[in-house]
Amino acid sequence: MEEYIETQGNKIRILDQDTINKIAAGEVIERPASVVKELIDNSIDAEANDIRIEVEKGGKNLIIIRDNGCGMNRADALIAYKKHATSKLTHIADLDTISTMGFRGEALASISAVAKMEIFTRPSKEIMGTKIVIHGGKVLETSDVGTAPGTSVRVKDLFYNTPARCKYLKSDRIELTYIIDTVTQLALANTNISFTLLSERKTVLRKMGSSDLFNCIVNVLGPDIARSLLPLEHKTEGFEIRGYISKPEASRAESDHIFLFINNRPVSSRAITTAIRLGYYTKIPKDVILLQYSSSFLILEKWM
Ligand code: ADP
Ligand code: MG
Repeated sequence: MEEYIETQGNKIRILDQDTINKIAAGEVIERPASVVKELIDNSIDAEANDIRIEVEKGGKNLIIIRDNGCGMNRADALIAYKKHATSKLTHIADLDTISTMGFRGEALASISAVAKMEIFTRPSKEIMGTKIVIHGGKVLETSDVGTAPGTSVRVKDLFYNTPARCKYLKSDRIELTYIIDTVTQLALANTNISFTLLSERKTVLRKMGSSDLFNCIVNVLGPDIARSLLPLEHKTEGFEIRGYISKPEASRAESDHIFLFINNRPVSSRAITTAIRLGYYTKIPKDVILLQYSSSFLILEKWM
């Protein structure tokens, strides 16, 4: 309900809850790739070791994320999509020790506010699973369903009820590129988890879970790039860096192949990227200084 403060000629009013929810959702969910990231984060937090992603039309029409994680029982599933509903944080003090990807309880609420969402979920020790259908934040159906252990979330018609957001989306091809980048980063950050990404029913990326980082790079970035990399390892008291970095002579024109992870989270940091560039500085002729940092791969652990 809109709330008016009646005075003569007043201009300010409190927005109604539906509008508030849609605006808030837009801050968390900017484009299909944000949905993919949030749902994969949830699957990682649910300790899945196999995550399958399917998209249609760059994720605008359909995004499905299936995992074999812990699943949700009926009671949890019924509140999971509500704002600030989370199993990952109880007190503010927990923030100091939190190790999950999420904790704010915003993703499912935000996605379901701006799309048509279906959740199928079942913990492995329960016989029956739960299906929940939510369109634009409104629950249309909750029912028993036979489903594999784990969780699968289908997100249809993203931004169908916020046409202004829709207009800001790029072409299907470009939105798919953002999704591939997101899945690539998360697949490299989580070596032990199998990832499969399908677009229009064709496999775009497939990586088996492996404890070996090099195997993972071969799977995700291809054998040619993998072969051109040198291992890197450095430890100090405060942090540990490990990963792979390309040989200066193997460098190419693109500079967008620097993957940085801090405690398994993909990050972008201009300071670190600049440090990497400076590190190469004396190794290559000055006039190609900006042409070399393709396929550099670095994991930073225990940073800070
Ligand atoms: P957050 O991840 O910040 O807790 P979300 O809105 O992303 O918030 O999810 C809300 C809650 O729903 C999670 O805390 C978790 O308990 C449950 N949940 C969401 N996705 C999954 C999943 N794939 N498997 C198991 N539980 C899930
Ligand atoms: Mg989450």
